[in-house]
Amino acid sequence: MLLYKMTNRPKPLGELALIEQIRRDFSAGSKAIMLGIGDDCAILRPPAGCEVLVTTDFTLEGRHFRRDRHPPESVGHRCLTRGLSDLAAMGATPLAAFLSLALPATMLAESAGREWIARFFSGLRALGDMHRVPLAGGDTSESPGGKNGFILADIVLVGAAPKGEALRRSGGVAGDALYVTGHLGGAAAELVAILKRQRRTLKIATTEGHPHMFPEPRLDVGESLLRRKLATACIDISDGLSTDLAHLCRASGVCAEIEPATLPIHPLARKLGADAALQAALHGGEDYELLFTTPPSVLMPTSLAGVPITRIGSLKKQRSGQPLMTMLASDGKRVELQAGGWEHFSGSSKSRKKRSH
Ligand code: ADP
Ligand code: MG
Repeated sequence: MLLYKMTNRPKPLGELALIEQIRRDFSAGSKAIMLGIGDDCAILRPPAGCEVLVTTDFTLEGRHFRRDRHPPESVGHRCLTRGLSDLAAMGATPLAAFLSLALPATMLAESAGREWIARFFSGLRALGDMHRVPLAGGDTSESPGGKNGFILADIVLVGAAPKGEALRRSGGVAGDALYVTGHLGGAAAELVAILKRQRRTLKIATTEGHPHMFPEPRLDVGESLLRRKLATACIDISDGLSTDLAHLCRASGVCAEIEPATLPIHPLARKLGADAALQAALHGGEDYELLFTTPPSVLMPTSLAGVPITRIGSLKKQRSGQPLMTMLASDGKRVELQAGGWEHFSGSSKSRKKRSH
């Protein structure tokens, strides 16, 4: 996917002018949106026979991105990806996005700040256009702290799924096979490279091959799993395979065993060496792939919607005293797998310093 190029230097903006610009740039029509940006509320009309799914995600400067490391297009892209990936995990089709944005006052006053904002929206719009997700509203505010204030964004995604059919974390059954989409550890590996570079951000023309900066939400896979009734449970692995697998196990009341030799490790992660690559794949986070389970009788294709699918293990019955997750090595040895991915307020994540969120 190519990113939009900015032609003109952005003009001075106030809140109203910024909202007007957003309205113009995001005015694409959609059957689901009866009324978009411009009134006190948006009015949505979900397709007949569908339920409405809603998710919200923060993108906070200093926590999820750094202005001196991430190109603004990447910040906009990742902001929308966080919400889209949650919809993908439940097999939902996106209807509309809403964006609440707090910006330091100086950003609207200075041309570098206005350029940042324009590039942020261009990244968000490129991904939104690709998945036909219109921006139907939001809020715009000055963040506290004057010129030292932070950029804070909260994205809300509204989606639709046929009544009673949305995929959940809780449907996994002992004996089910465990699958992941795409490749693992790429986002963590790219982040390591970004943080090692000298202080500067890159201008990037295309989103391909940047699993950290431009992750691909797996909407088509999620919709296909739902439509074909293949999955018993599903979750996106934004916080890392080990952490999100633990969520799925707890919600489903089962244990899981994975075979590390089967993990589809991203080529960028492979470059880190075998051990670091495995750690990145298990605990790295931000890969935005889907982890799902299917009954053992289901013959899974090797790809869905053009995305490779890999079997990485299976679900087991819970037994008292047994670990929630285990890894089965090729020599037959079993070791416990502990959740080592991302958890806010845990304060103890061993790789906290290396993360961007
Ligand atoms: P109100 O004061 O009623 O909250 P606003 O002036 O904040 O209205 O917003 C006016 C319109 O612009 C609303 O339709 C709102 O959804 C939209 N809007 C405001 N900020 C954003 C934004 N950052 N992104 C998209 N739409 C926005
Ligand atoms: Mg408002």
